[in-house]
Amino acid sequence: MADEQRDDAQDDTGTREAAAHDRPGGVLPGLPSPPPSGESALPPGTYDGTVVLVTGGGTGLGKAVAAEFARLGADLVIASRKEDRLQAARDELASLGGRVTATVCDIRDAGRVAEVFDAAQEAYGLPGILVNNAAANFPVPAEDMSPNAWRAVVDITLTGTFLMTREFGRRHLAAGTPGSVIDVGASYAWTGGPGFAHSAAAKAGVKSLVETLAVEWGPYGIQVNGLVPGLMPHDDMSADIRGNLDRGGRADDKAARQPALRVGLPRELGWAATFLASPYARFITGHTLVVDGANWQRRAVVSPPVTTVREQLGRGEFTP
Ligand code: NAP
Repeated sequence: MADEQRDDAQDDTGTREAAAHDRPGGVLPGLPSPPPSGESALPPGTYDGTVVLVTGGGTGLGKAVAAEFARLGADLVIASRKEDRLQAARDELASLGGRVTATVCDIRDAGRVAEVFDAAQEAYGLPGILVNNAAANFPVPAEDMSPNAWRAVVDITLTGTFLMTREFGRRHLAAGTPGSVIDVGASYAWTGGPGFAHSAAAKAGVKSLVETLAVEWGPYGIQVNGLVPGLMPHDDMSADIRGNLDRGGRADDKAARQPALRVGLPRELGWAATFLASPYARFITGHTLVVDGANWQRRAVVSPPVTTVREQLGRGEFTP
């Protein structure tokens, strides 16, 4: 399904689910739907002549972020491991305007990361904006997590983000040019993430990197910000993550479980990213912006009974 069609479908779903959620006092509206796909708060051409490198830009939220930069004139480089998905996304994104290059890269490989920057630089020039969106994740109780699973998620999400950012910073410092880094995070960087110990620890590391590098590189003109999506379902979600969202009969009532009474739309993350990297956000750095309809700040007046992660994931008793 094309991006715009999918966004509209999710828009409809969010609104219908909210409206269907009757309460004793009547139907609550929830937060309004955003403008339609294709609109932007920024002037056309804001990113003309700017190269934007998006990791994981071939799928899901990374592709949605890349699309908003493309609509505003950016030349895109999208990078991830799977060539087929990258090529399909390349064609889709190219239809929005600017030039798009898709390049295979495992962000855990520092040598390959450098080659991707070389290729980008040769094709369009040094990327002025880096969006570290690639990450890995799946739910698992900590006691069942293998050392390899831990290492894989932390290596991709934290070390990969660092390697990309380091390469970007070194090249801009050498050239004496300004730049902007956006690291896509997750709200359990602040709260911890039961069932996601590996990813939550890695995202906490990413948030720390944002705060550290914003100070280290501010004097050189490089902004570093974080951007946290809330629940933004999309067709590319892995079976593990989709299964987790649908667990316990949640498939039909995702919207009703958000304070916004709707889920987020991928383009809402894209709009936030294009703002954070824009000239209108030049004094914002070291900040992590959460785009989640306040879901992560929810607290119940009376706490619900505790269920263990094993129970929530439908796992039996722990056997060592
Ligand atoms: P997704 O569809 O699973 O996308 C992950 C992307 O990362 C894929 O394009 C994947 O491409 C790429 N990737 C994974 N490992 C890589 C590696 N070693 N090297 C290079 N690329 C790699 O995830 P998403 O839902 O769009 O999420 C995007 C970001 O938002 C992530 O940082 C995620 O943690 C965050 N987030 C999402 C949600 C949500 O509701 N969707 C909520 C909170 C946070 P290849 O397989 O081709 O490598």
